[in-house]
Amino acid sequence: MKYSSLKVNAKGKEQHTYDAIVIGSGISGGWAAKELCEKGLKTLVLERGRMVEHRKDYPTATKHIWELPYRNRLTQEQISENPILSRCYAYEQATEHFFVKDKEHPYIQKKPFDWIRGYQVGGKSLLWARWTQRWSDLDFEANAREGVAIDWPIRYRDIAPWYSYVERFAGISGNRDGLPQIPDGEFLPPMEMNCAEVYFRDQLKTHYKDRHLVISRTANLTRPHLGRGPCQHRDLCYRGCPFGGYFSSNSATLPAAEKTGNLTIRPFSVVHSIIYDERTQKAKGVRVIDTNTKETMEFFSKIVFLNAATLNSTLVLMNSKSSRFPNGLGNDSGELGHNLMDHNYNARVEATLEGFEDKSPFGKRPTGTYLPRFRNFGQDRQSNFSRGYAYSVGGSRSSGSERGESMIGTELKKDLTSLGPWKIEMTGMGECLPYHENKVSLSKTEKDDWDMPLLEIDAEYKTNELNMQKDMVDSAIEMLQKANLKNIEEVPMNRNFGLNIHEMGTARMGKDPKTSILNPYNQVWGCENVFVTDGSCMTSSACQNPSLTYMAITARAADHAIKELKKQNL
Ligand SMILES: Cc1cc2nc3c(=O)[nH]c(=O)nc-3n(C[C@H](O)[C@H](O)[C@H](O)COP(=O)(O)OP(=O)(O)OC[C@H]3O[C@@H](n4cnc5c(N)ncnc54)[C@H](O)[C@@H]3O)c2cc1C
Repeated sequence: MKYSSLKVNAKGKEQHTYDAIVIGSGISGGWAAKELCEKGLKTLVLERGRMVEHRKDYPTATKHIWELPYRNRLTQEQISENPILSRCYAYEQATEHFFVKDKEHPYIQKKPFDWIRGYQVGGKSLLWARWTQRWSDLDFEANAREGVAIDWPIRYRDIAPWYSYVERFAGISGNRDGLPQIPDGEFLPPMEMNCAEVYFRDQLKTHYKDRHLVISRTANLTRPHLGRGPCQHRDLCYRGCPFGGYFSSNSATLPAAEKTGNLTIRPFSVVHSIIYDERTQKAKGVRVIDTNTKETMEFFSKIVFLNAATLNSTLVLMNSKSSRFPNGLGNDSGELGHNLMDHNYNARVEATLEGFEDKSPFGKRPTGTYLPRFRNFGQDRQSNFSRGYAYSVGGSRSSGSERGESMIGTELKKDLTSLGPWKIEMTGMGECLPYHENKVSLSKTEKDDWDMPLLEIDAEYKTNELNMQKDMVDSAIEMLQKANLKNIEEVPMNRNFGLNIHEMGTARMGKDPKTSILNPYNQVWGCENVFVTDGSCMTSSACQNPSLTYMAITARAADHAIKELKKQNL
């Protein structure tokens, strides 16, 4: 696929005018581009990183481990140069070209915060783990029920049709499990559980009424879908999939947008700020810096979708100052930058399962199983934390050398044809509350290469998350004991805030401009032709992986934008 792209810009206003501008080409920006282009708008996607063309720019996708440098392991130099990035499990020789290196784009940590980024066409959609559970009203009503932060301006019924809409296009494999905390969606056939997971699922059913182990709903295709090939069970997704077996902007939304003839994508284009027109009280376009030439330029449009991912979108809003908005676009409430959340995955327990020695894993399934939330839900009430958590659960069996044990000679040869016992690993995935004090702001002194202020990040888990974390470990141990597993061990995690790569909040949606940045359709209060539909819009974090919700929110907002344009309201 070839995207049309502009070269260095020295053109007049007319050539720089589009119907719509989308900032960022990752998961949410890809959806905005597809929806706006398909509805007939000439759309310019501005992306700060380089072009990544589907298939052509996946250089390691078909490489065997022995064809990669250092058998795909990071060198000591890579680790010492990238102390933050090297804590991300997906960073390896085969994927390193898709990650921002620590030194390339610095930021200021007031408290430890690992900011993992992918600056390229496709953003982190190339790198994500593709888990896609829907939220329910347990999540959308939680803030209001508990008097925490502010109420979401939407409920499940508002977003449910848009979940269906994006699932049908993205291709989500999963089982219809009938669980109210993760409503069923429009699923392709599910992947299969292995024997250890089936055993554990049945044990949980015997011992608990409220714990249902299900196959994770995942954006990997289990059959051909809309021109993309099915997942080959190679489990190499993070390198980019030449079959289009998983959903990414590059494999799915951007090609759909391009097919309309309405898409222009301009890589190497950092959006510096949104230009607010005091006369019309709307945005008229954006200021851009070409990262190759460092030339500054302006592009104009009727509407702007801001999809630079949570923290960069907030940075752009903060950097968009005018006499009407001296503290950043839409920031009448003073909430811009506040209420930063990231999930808490700091709880992992492993154990071995006796038996099933005659069985081994078949293929490399690129996902796991999922134990949905059971805390503070149904009959369960916890006294020392609110909200809840899910677990990712994986059953596996491997040889000693695969597990990283060192061996040589006959011992190694023997090991290569033998497998150790089955193991079950459980990782807690906890909700994080939106605290006003968890925040980002612009540095007053330090700037990046594009003359944009560096972001200062000041966030931490608090008592609710830490109490929940202890319960995630204790409950996992209890479940594994009841299921008669052996060698149960807690695996220390110590992940910094940010490393779960579900950063959310900082430009939240709400019902009231006095307490939020975005209205119920993701329009910036006071500048309604700017829509912000990535994770920055989130009013709480739930415990499900969030990106499916960003997709649904984006498609819903794009639909609203088109209707408002037709009514000449924007
Ligand atoms: C290893 C890993 C595993 C993950 N697993 C899951 C999972 O299982 N489920 C899940 O729901 N989520 C998962 N995530 C998170 C998921 O990737 C993000 O939630 C999602 O990509 C966010 O989409 P986005 O559009 O907001 O941002 P991105 O996909 O990050 O895209 C943002 C784009 O904006 C561009 N940009 C930034 N600033 C500017 C600017 N000023 N001007 C122009 N362009 C700009 C960036 O270069 C980037 O291309 C995972 C992430 C990683 C890295």
